[in-house]
Amino acid sequence: MYYVSEDEVRGLLSHALAFDAVRDVFASVAAGEAINFPVIREELGHANAVYGFKSGLDLRTKTLGLKSGGYWPGNEARGLTNHQSTVLLFDPDTGRPSALLGGNAMTAYRTAASSANSIAELARKDSKVLGIVGAGFQSRFQIEAAVRQRDFTRIVGYNFHAEMLPNLAKVAQDLGLPFDAVTPQQLAEQSDVIITITSSFEPQIMAEWIQPGTHIACMGTDTTGKQEIDAKIFGKACVFADQITQSITIGEAQHAHSQGLLAIEEITPIGAVINGDRPGRKRDDDITVFDGTGIGLQDLAVATVIQELAQKQGIGRRFD
Ligand code: NAD
Repeated sequence: MYYVSEDEVRGLLSHALAFDAVRDVFASVAAGEAINFPVIREELGHANAVYGFKSGLDLRTKTLGLKSGGYWPGNEARGLTNHQSTVLLFDPDTGRPSALLGGNAMTAYRTAASSANSIAELARKDSKVLGIVGAGFQSRFQIEAAVRQRDFTRIVGYNFHAEMLPNLAKVAQDLGLPFDAVTPQQLAEQSDVIITITSSFEPQIMAEWIQPGTHIACMGTDTTGKQEIDAKIFGKACVFADQITQSITIGEAQHAHSQGLLAIEEITPIGAVINGDRPGRKRDDDITVFDGTGIGLQDLAVATVIQELAQKQGIGRRFD
C-alpha cells in the first residue's frame, strides 16, 4: 500500500497531467470500458457536514477505487479547507488496497481538466475572450486550465458576491492577461467561452444574451436544485456532458430536462467526441454547452497517474 500525502500530491499535480488523465477516462466511459458506481451522499447530522463516496472502475487503465469525503462548513474557522476528500485505490485483480492519496487539490485540478477538455473539443479555434462566472476556490484552477486550450487575449468576470472579484483579477494578472469585471449580460455578449463555477440556485446567464458560436462549460451544478444558466439555452444549443445520467439528475441539464426542453438523446457524452465516434461542434455559429457534473472516475484517473509518478520519483511511502 502506497501513501501520498495531500502536500505531496499538490507538488506532483499539473494541469497537463490532469487534462490527459481526465481525457482518457472520459474516453473510457464513452467506450463502455469504465463505469461509475452509484454515488452515496449523506447529511451526517454532525458538524453540519455532508459526507459520501464516489467510486468506479476503468478497465482500460485497470483503475479501481473510491473518493471519500464531503463538505464541513466549520473547517475554514479552524484554518482548514471546507471540502475534504481522500482517494483509496485498489488492485482490480485482487481487491487489495494499493494506494491512499490526499484528494483535495486533485478535485480542483480534475474539475478544471473537465472544462478544459470541453474547451479543447468544442470551443471555436479562434476564441479570444474567456468569461468566468464565479470567483470562489475553484475559479483559479478553471481559468488556469482554460487558457492552456485557446489563445485567449482577455478575461471578463462576474460574481454574485462582488467583493470576491479581486480573486479573478489576481489570476488574470498572474497569467498576464487583461481582466474586466462586467455585468452578466456583458459577459455573455462578449465571451467566446464561458465557464460557470458557482453554487448558485438561480440562473446567472440568460438565453437571450448568448451569442452564436459561444461555448459554455457549466461546472458548478452538482446537486439537485442548483442552477447557473437559463434552461432555455439548452433548447438552442448542442449539448454535451461528462455523464448523461448525472447531467439530467444533478447536473445543469436537470432543469431543461425536467421542463421538456432537452431529451436524453440530445446529450452527447464528451468522451464520444474525444474518441471520434460523435461530432462535436459542427458549425462556427453553433452554441455548445458542456455539463460537467463531476464523476468519481476523474479523481481515480488522476490519482492513478499521481501514484505512479510519486513512486517513480520516490515521493510518498510504502507501508503494510
Ligand atoms: P466556493 O464556496 O469557494 O465559491 C462559491 C462561488 O459561488 C462563489 O463565486 C460565490 O460567490 C458563488 N455563489 C454562492 N452563492 C451564490 C448565489 N446564491 N448566487 C450566485 N452565486 C453564488 O466554491 P467552489 O469550491 O469554488 O465551488 C463552486 C461550485 O462548484 C460549487 O457549487 C461546488 O459544489 C461545485 N463543484 C463542482 C465540481 C464538478 O466536478 N462539477 C467540482 C468541485 C466543485
